[in-house]
Amino acid sequence: MSRVDRRYYGRMVIFALIVSVCLCAVPGSRAAGSGEKTISRHEACERIAGKLASVNRNDCLADGVVCSGSYSVRGMPILVKEYPPLEGRSPRARVLVIGGTHGDEYASVSVVFHWMRILDIHHSGLFHWIFVPLLNPDGLLRERSTRTNGRGVDLNRNMPSPLWHEIGYTRWVEAVECNPRYYPGPYPMSEPETVFLVDLIHRFKPHAIISLHTPLNLVDHDGPGRPASALGSLGLRKLGNFPGTLGNYAGMKCGIPVITVELASSGRMPQDDEISSMWRDLVRWLIDTVPIEPGSDEIWVEEDSEELQQEFFGK
Ligand SMILES: [Zn+2]
Repeated sequence: MSRVDRRYYGRMVIFALIVSVCLCAVPGSRAAGSGEKTISRHEACERIAGKLASVNRNDCLADGVVCSGSYSVRGMPILVKEYPPLEGRSPRARVLVIGGTHGDEYASVSVVFHWMRILDIHHSGLFHWIFVPLLNPDGLLRERSTRTNGRGVDLNRNMPSPLWHEIGYTRWVEAVECNPRYYPGPYPMSEPETVFLVDLIHRFKPHAIISLHTPLNLVDHDGPGRPASALGSLGLRKLGNFPGTLGNYAGMKCGIPVITVELASSGRMPQDDEISSMWRDLVRWLIDTVPIEPGSDEIWVEEDSEELQQEFFGK
């Protein structure tokens, strides 16, 4: 085994150890935030599949989908699935894929599960993947799903990005007139879900992050590297830079390219061939672009789309 292999396997073992802590956890022992009783992986999968017709309970309960060891505000486990390096092949890069940051964006969860089904069959060791199919289980599983988490915080405004303290709160007040859907929280990383995500990024050290959202029908890129011109039918378009977003934190502060996939509809899944087409384009972009050449700190810059911001953020 080469030195690189050993390094990757070392990371994998570290991750497995963290996961095993979770698997052995006594309910309630690692509850986040509210102190509510924690919920088992089995129960979590039952609830997710009960909410999303396009997510099969058995996919969620499949081998390899495990509790990360972190819990949402209301005690739901944050599930992860790792596709580790395969023996004899050093992965080109580590890639993190995240769905369900916003609980009312159903398709962003379903597409991640769909992509995991593809990798279940085709994982070749080309990349080392970690998937977080549902970052915000509390938002999804409310009777009426919400964008925000169990404490009413927009997780994609709560990341510890530059200028959060200076303008995070005032942008919320001025730009969206205190719309509760975009509440950034009392301070960066105030929520267990964002603590989990920052910790995962620090431990896994991904070379690229793919985050799925809806319903803007575009691909956005933050951080270094050449953006993908399109994923499936989704074309490249700059959405805008807000304090506390994952793109702002991981892309601009940590220097990791962040692809934001904005699907066209929250409640309607793309067709299967479109999901496969997006996947193929994504893998092709990863092969062509990631890891970013050492020393390349070029940041893709394009004017934010005021029209899009008006349309979506109502300002
Ligand atoms: Zn979103």
